[in-house]
Amino acid sequence: MSARVLCRLFVSARLAKDASVLADAGQARYLGSVLRARPADRVCLFNGQDGDWLADIVHLDRQRVELRALSCLRPQPDTGIPDVWLLFAPVKKDGTDMIVQKATELGASVLWPVLTSRTNSQRVNVERLRATAIEAAEQCERSTVPDMRMPERLEPLLAGWEHTRTLYVADETGRGDPVATVLAREASGPAAFLTGPEGGFDPRETELLHQAPFVRPVSLGPRILRAETAAMASLTCWQAINGDWSHPLIRPY
Ligand code: SAH
Repeated sequence: MSARVLCRLFVSARLAKDASVLADAGQARYLGSVLRARPADRVCLFNGQDGDWLADIVHLDRQRVELRALSCLRPQPDTGIPDVWLLFAPVKKDGTDMIVQKATELGASVLWPVLTSRTNSQRVNVERLRATAIEAAEQCERSTVPDMRMPERLEPLLAGWEHTRTLYVADETGRGDPVATVLAREASGPAAFLTGPEGGFDPRETELLHQAPFVRPVSLGPRILRAETAAMASLTCWQAINGDWSHPLIRPY
């Protein structure tokens, strides 16, 4: 019997000692065809609520993989979950995938595509993005999977905004103060970042954003960053200044 943990999988079932968990079709294929797993092989399971669990494979065939939770490897952290969202104008397919993957690694709790007037990519495959977020969460060993929201247009989104969450807007017009200065000035609390599309925000959108009382425009320096880079840079700054980068890395296995 191998004690090696083959992979880490996100499941929706509750996890407790001896809980039986069925892998979904994609996971079954991955375990069977890619990893060539066998009964008694071990994996790590998490569901965003019950921590990381060591599990073994009780049954495996083409149709069905049944797993059994054995012991808790790492409890669910009850504090210190970063409360930072990323709102982003979707870009081309690969760029949007990259934003979702990297924002998951960088600990964003909500990922929200925002449709702006210059968003070229009006069709967003949210199911695929959700799968990308799950895969990134499995790989980077975070304890939760970000909440992948349905795309929304900028105006209604601002109209329905909960004012207690500060919206930091990556503003390429240079009207915002440097991001580190703004973050150090603001009380740390619920935060969200918004990055624009390849073509930038249009002037009317920039005005609308500047007028909203919960918006803080920020600058990301003297160069024009690609939308993907701007999203990653924003979250990186927030995590380093206000987020969880002061916490130690505790690996589940
Ligand atoms: N085509 C636009 C740039 C768009 S860059 C132009 O030439 O002006 C895509 C998005 O990345 C922008 O909408 C903004 O949200 C962010 N961004 C890029 N560089 C930035 C910077 N230096 N400061 C703040 N935000 C930036």
